[in-house]
Amino acid sequence: MTYISTRGMAPTLGFEEAMMTGLARDGGLYVPDTVPVMGRDEIAALAGLPYEEVAFRVMRPFVGEAFDDATFMGLIEAAYAGFGHPARAPLKQVAPGGFLLELFHGPTLAFKDFAMQLIGQMFEAALTRSGRRLTIVGATSGDTGSAAIEAFRGLDAVDVFILYPHGRVSEVQRRQMTTPVEANVHALALDGDFDDCQARVKDMFNDLAFRDEVALAGVNSINWARVLAQVVYYVTAATSLGAPHREVDFCVPTGNFGDIFAGSVARRMGVPVGRLIAATNHNDVVARALRDGEYRKGRVEPSRSPSMDIQVSSNFERALFDAYGRDGAAVAQLMDELKTADGFAISQGARQALAEVYGAGRASEEQTLARIRRTREETGELLCPHTAVGLEVAEGAVRDGVPMVTLATAHPAKFPDAVEEATGERPPLPSRMADLYERPERVTRVENDLAALQTLIRSRRTS
Ligand SMILES: *Cc1c(COP(=O)(O)O)cnc(C)c1O
Repeated sequence: MTYISTRGMAPTLGFEEAMMTGLARDGGLYVPDTVPVMGRDEIAALAGLPYEEVAFRVMRPFVGEAFDDATFMGLIEAAYAGFGHPARAPLKQVAPGGFLLELFHGPTLAFKDFAMQLIGQMFEAALTRSGRRLTIVGATSGDTGSAAIEAFRGLDAVDVFILYPHGRVSEVQRRQMTTPVEANVHALALDGDFDDCQARVKDMFNDLAFRDEVALAGVNSINWARVLAQVVYYVTAATSLGAPHREVDFCVPTGNFGDIFAGSVARRMGVPVGRLIAATNHNDVVARALRDGEYRKGRVEPSRSPSMDIQVSSNFERALFDAYGRDGAAVAQLMDELKTADGFAISQGARQALAEVYGAGRASEEQTLARIRRTREETGELLCPHTAVGLEVAEGAVRDGVPMVTLATAHPAKFPDAVEEATGERPPLPSRMADLYERPERVTRVENDLAALQTLIRSRRTS
């Protein structure tokens, strides 16, 4: 299988190179040139298999020559061995026809671990084989950074630099990034918001000389391998609920559009994913774009669901690429308008194509808190604020007779302040990380300046 850029001007790559590269050299995102379709029998045969086995069967065709079967299976098993639940992504029923897909049993308590743990394994295997070294640079609103650091800490062939917006991540998120002791881990607190962090990372990738000099690699959700790993739990959830014989809808707390886009890949593979509902907080650029056909960047307003506090939703570009009939030139033009005019209008045809797959809704801060409180009272479950946004939006999008699965994207203990505000209860950390608040922190404060960041990265690399 080969990978092409959403802007149509970058070289076509195999899986391993697309994974190592992250952002394409024309500024676009890599996507597979074709998506393999599974037959009904193949899908039916997945029901009840261990998570790792489903992961292998779903991802195998996308990986191509990069790893042989036995190696790839070994990487998958190693990736999920540290999860705190045997099902990896258990489903929990919370209402008639309403389910939570719990994606927070990994080492940093958010769904990002599903992709990042696997990417860590795949990078290590590929780099060991080739003797190369890489500098991983990522931007985070909190959860990507902690998941990346957890996945790459202590690896020989990699330095990992994570930019997070100073003062805008939760204490648990921050400590998960600043407490690892390994010398190849570099947590950078940037003076700015998440979009600034993401913009500086993109600038570094677009500085091709710097990119080559430090062998830059990206593990943000623009990395195709991350999207791919997230396809798997849509398949396990759908088959648990009756696919291929029954359609299943999903509601996805959304920021960068990576998680929900993975659902659209499962759909294209033949899994009967009905509608994919994007749930946002008041930073609702994605919900507005899907509803009004206008992508208009606003200002980021901090919320209690900080992992969705963004106005530039990178993976939306992949959805646009599909909606524009895979016309890279059209996508490149929209992205140009986004840069110069802070927004763009989506064509009528593309709007229709998007509407066939995606719905959208938003939840206010008050609704989010009320949802956490009500769910505690009615079901006994404590929700993280992102998950609460999802459940709130899901309720308005349920179709008769179609199960609705809301993705529970983080553990409530990762966002204890919001949970306590809503319920009066402070959710405890799982015992395996109970000493997080006692470990010493290590972090570098940085200004929002490309040249300063590049100097810092050059001097800090351990190679
Ligand atoms: C990253 C994240 C999201 C948003 O996911 P995207 O793939 O960026 O849309 C939602 N909730 C939590 C807890 C997250 O960490």
